[in-house]
Amino acid sequence: MSRFLDDRLRALIPYTPGEQPRGRRFIKLNTNESPFPPSPEVLRAITQEQVSELRLYSDPTMLELRRAIAQRNGLTEAQVMAGNGSDEILGFAFQAFCGKKGVMFPSISYGFYPVWCQLFGIDALALPLREDFTIDIAPYRIPGRNVVLANPNAPTGLALSLEEIEAILQAHPEDVVLIDQAYVDFGCDSAVKLIDRYENLLVVETFSKSRALAGARIGFAMGQEGLIEDLERVRCSFHPYSLNRLSLLAGAAAMRDGAYFDECRGKIIENRSWTRAELMALGCDVTDSLANFLFVRLPGVPGREALEALRQRGILVRWFDKEGIRDWLRITVGVREEMEALVHAVRGIIEGEEQ
Ligand SMILES: *Cc1c(COP(=O)(O)O)cnc(C)c1O
Repeated sequence: MSRFLDDRLRALIPYTPGEQPRGRRFIKLNTNESPFPPSPEVLRAITQEQVSELRLYSDPTMLELRRAIAQRNGLTEAQVMAGNGSDEILGFAFQAFCGKKGVMFPSISYGFYPVWCQLFGIDALALPLREDFTIDIAPYRIPGRNVVLANPNAPTGLALSLEEIEAILQAHPEDVVLIDQAYVDFGCDSAVKLIDRYENLLVVETFSKSRALAGARIGFAMGQEGLIEDLERVRCSFHPYSLNRLSLLAGAAAMRDGAYFDECRGKIIENRSWTRAELMALGCDVTDSLANFLFVRLPGVPGREALEALRQRGILVRWFDKEGIRDWLRITVGVREEMEALVHAVRGIIEGEEQ
């Protein structure tokens, strides 16, 4: 740290992304990416001609991409904005709406929420989960603060029902309720159908997980026109070209390929239930995840040791050094062979096999 850094940022602890290994080949189950390639339509969209067009700035209105997202979700283009990953959009939303009134979210949730609060000087109220990792919505119904909820939640994979989300929306007529649906495509109900009825609802999604485009950095927000205009105001005051030309093309092509999307998410859901049953048969605790990951506790093996033992067996998973979940691992659902290797490794670790 230099002596030039702003005082406000000296205590800031940045978000720690999951490892992107170089060199040794691992079975990579640590960052909830898709094990499948993006839709073949993506490659078709990125032609030689499009590459030469990179000399031109990208479309600051992102119209084609927003149109594809709007069509898929039964919305108008004015109800959709896109950005450089949902992280960028979430950051804009924290800036746009949370400065004065602050925000509440679960203490165990996406680790970036408290980081944005520190970065932007936003007052954060982190509410504990129940013992079984479910969310008691009672404290979320106290108005005066915005609400941010990942649904399904990460890293637990557990989801709130739309009735519960609606109860929270109704309790907050003057506050924004942001539903971060990064994992919604793997089996949870989408809050998008509530948009027409709640002007305080903002739904954020990403192409990083279910659409296999984590490296293209594409996220989007959906809500009534007013909220979307506010987000666009922030975005255009920061970086109007926040999506590059190739990502705009890739995103629109992937969003339009519904068949491939359904095929991929179907396989993930199938592999998730297969893996969950296998791990439970080995004596693991596994939450009833609706995401593309499982949250797992090995019997008799502390989380950190389990993380290391899996790494030694060539498998990367995610472990959080955080009160209440230190014995748990977040394991991305991959293809069947990867899941078979995972189950085999977990069995060896539980049985105390030497590596
Ligand atoms: C992965 C994830 C994001 C970030 O997605 P990007 O679009 O890749 O920035 C946001 N929220 C949650 C809960 C996530 O798991």
